[in-house]
Amino acid sequence: MKSNILLGIALGILVVSFNLFTMIGNSGFLLTKVSDYAESQIKLRNFSTALELYSHGYKIRSQKKFKVGIGVSQKRILEASIILHSDGNFSQAQKGYKEILKSVLVENQLLEDEAKRFEGYAANNYSELELLRLADSFQLKNPIKAFEMYSDCLRIYPDLKNKGTVEDKILKLAARFLQRTRAQHQEGEFTQAIKSYQKIIMIPCLSENLKLEATQGLSLAQQQKRFDFKVAFLTFDDGPSTNTLKILDILRKYNIKATFFVTGNNSEFGANVYRKIISEGHVLGNHTYSHIYKKIYVSVDSFMEDFLQLEELLHERVGIRPKIYRFPGGSNNLVSQTTGGKKLMDLLIHTLNAKGYQYFDWNVNSQDAEVILQDTQVIIDSVLSSSQDKEKIIVLMHDTIAKKTTPEALPEIIEGLREQGFTFDTLP
Ligand SMILES: [Zn+2]
Repeated sequence: MKSNILLGIALGILVVSFNLFTMIGNSGFLLTKVSDYAESQIKLRNFSTALELYSHGYKIRSQKKFKVGIGVSQKRILEASIILHSDGNFSQAQKGYKEILKSVLVENQLLEDEAKRFEGYAANNYSELELLRLADSFQLKNPIKAFEMYSDCLRIYPDLKNKGTVEDKILKLAARFLQRTRAQHQEGEFTQAIKSYQKIIMIPCLSENLKLEATQGLSLAQQQKRFDFKVAFLTFDDGPSTNTLKILDILRKYNIKATFFVTGNNSEFGANVYRKIISEGHVLGNHTYSHIYKKIYVSVDSFMEDFLQLEELLHERVGIRPKIYRFPGGSNNLVSQTTGGKKLMDLLIHTLNAKGYQYFDWNVNSQDAEVILQDTQVIIDSVLSSSQDKEKIIVLMHDTIAKKTTPEALPEIIEGLREQGFTFDTLP
């Protein structure tokens, strides 16, 4: 059966349908054949077939090659449809636009918007003159829309009769559009600004000055948007201790909020630290009362008993029952498997989830617990190097009494992360 399908794909005689994909199921090997076949369809200019193949591949496995393939096919279909459109073949063009709109969308808002607008023009059978007249009517009440329509018109009809006049109108409106985009950009609306800059750059008759300004604005906004999404969650485990106080002082100095996964401390000192963490705007998380692996990782009941003991203490001391927690050793620790069995961790997560608690591991390890007293520079370097390729980081650090170098490393960590474009926030 399978070999027949493969033969069919190889000969290119197979009609693409859902059946094919039901039959090939989830086999990675066959998916490779699907993407090869799709690629050959692009070469043969069978863009719709390619799009369908890539889309189904993407539904089975959301791999990058399928996503890229979808994007390429959509672009080609758009180009082909525009040619049909300019030839006055509205119904065929409309079919192409619709195909794009009903396919899997792959984060190309610009292409999607264009397909939507062009589909509208084709559905209304607008001739180039009608399209221009419509654009004229928008000039005063909605200059951005007018600008868009003039540019669309030029895109669909590159050999427009009164091209010069239209280009003049576009340029005038483009200057206004750029002005508005700059304002958006300044207000921090990066996504909108990026979209607008891209639109401006695509105008075929744009002057060098405007083009340069839009290009520069675009790359700046893209950078800023990237930075905008970079968030660091600093987390400190195992406190309270006098180091917690040092860390709180540093965080206050930098005006940064963090998350403290605390353990049980029944003294007045402990209560004061819990209170200080809360009153300075940070977040408390549960890290179990005893933190003793051999005690907590015996069964669900033993874990819950210890966990709730801390919850009661925190409630009594600061009136808070934390909804977030971190497993001592993280959710992948091996002790829980050897003492409580392989299924204990899953059971714990399930039980706690059902009660509305959420656990957090980390994706950046400061290495401050790898030895008793880690070198300050090692802590700094560990955090800053492994943060580099990430957008959301949860940084693991410790604030027990022994970890003297962690507060020493903290200022450089904060400054380094800020340089990388991170802002700071508390979990969750
Ligand atoms: Zn811990």
